[in-house]
Amino acid sequence: MSEGVHSTRLNNHTDDKPNRSCAAAISVAALWKRYGATVAVSDVTFEVAAGQIFGLLGANGAGKTTTLECILGLRQPDGGSIHINGLDIRIHAAQAKRLVGAQLQAATLQDRITPRQALDLFGSFYSQSFGSDELLARFDLEAKADVPFATLSGGLRQRLFLALALVNRPTLLVLDEPTAGLDPQARRKLRSLIGEMRSDGRTVLLSTHDLQEAHELCDRIAIMDNGRIVADGSPAELIGRSQSPARVIVRTAPCLASTVVDALPGVIQAAQSERGWILETRAPTRVLAELVRRIDEAGVRLLEVELRGPSLEDVFIELTGRPWRAGEPHGEVS
Ligand code: ATP
Repeated sequence: MSEGVHSTRLNNHTDDKPNRSCAAAISVAALWKRYGATVAVSDVTFEVAAGQIFGLLGANGAGKTTTLECILGLRQPDGGSIHINGLDIRIHAAQAKRLVGAQLQAATLQDRITPRQALDLFGSFYSQSFGSDELLARFDLEAKADVPFATLSGGLRQRLFLALALVNRPTLLVLDEPTAGLDPQARRKLRSLIGEMRSDGRTVLLSTHDLQEAHELCDRIAIMDNGRIVADGSPAELIGRSQSPARVIVRTAPCLASTVVDALPGVIQAAQSERGWILETRAPTRVLAELVRRIDEAGVRLLEVELRGPSLEDVFIELTGRPWRAGEPHGEVS
């Protein structure tokens, strides 16, 4: 029986399975990188466990790309060390490189090359590679296998770059903002494909300036700001350390009078928005219970109520004292 595209799994040979025996998949210690007077990466230390998706989260210019480029051996660090599967990349560069597949932000291909030709070409560089048919099926590119690269949409191009990153059967994938500039549907597709990399047992190190993406996709996150890692942990751990209040958002018809809202115990701050009242509180259970009782007493109709705990955005603001600005939005392409 032929498998559907979405359930296709690549046949892993025993020798391309990640080494889970001992060392971290990546270990970065006290990494520094300067460009003239600009300190792009400042004393960065983190470890990525095998089989995890690890995200470097930061706004534009935070130092994510430079960190990834140092790991890939594309930039010479000014200080610190990088180990891939226990291999010091300064000493075992070639051996370490064989373990890694990369997708860079500025990736492009010659206009007329087709996905199949590109995969065949890249595959020919390696003794161990996936065949183009297997990758075209896995990345849902079969229908576009023989059309020129220039005619592919942004989402298809990113899928092709991900397939190319996988061509040498790497145990570790390094992806620089893999979903930047894509529309929501293409982004979802890419995220699901990246999730499948982890299901295959591969390790993924990616950069992103998308808070939601980091939260949904990554097992662990390092938040970067001005070249430094200001916090790391799982999304739940990072949010759990937050001191920010929860928000109760409530919409009624007609709108609740401010006298009712002002009289609620446990509300730190109340503001009216298009969605209704937004109430900040550190006692959400008490506020919700009181709110429902008072809505009932006021005889208004409850249309919507939502409780939102602290988010990664709150964590960033607490850590840096600045609002989250991912930078100039990337143009969206489908
Ligand atoms: P983005 O999301 O925009 O790629 P980033 O978090 O990846 O941002 P980097 O690209 O690593 O950040 O940049 C970190 C800092 O280093 C920024 O101040 C940037 O302007 C600077 N920088 C990056 N590359 C160079 C370079 N080749 N020459 C000089 N400065 C650079």
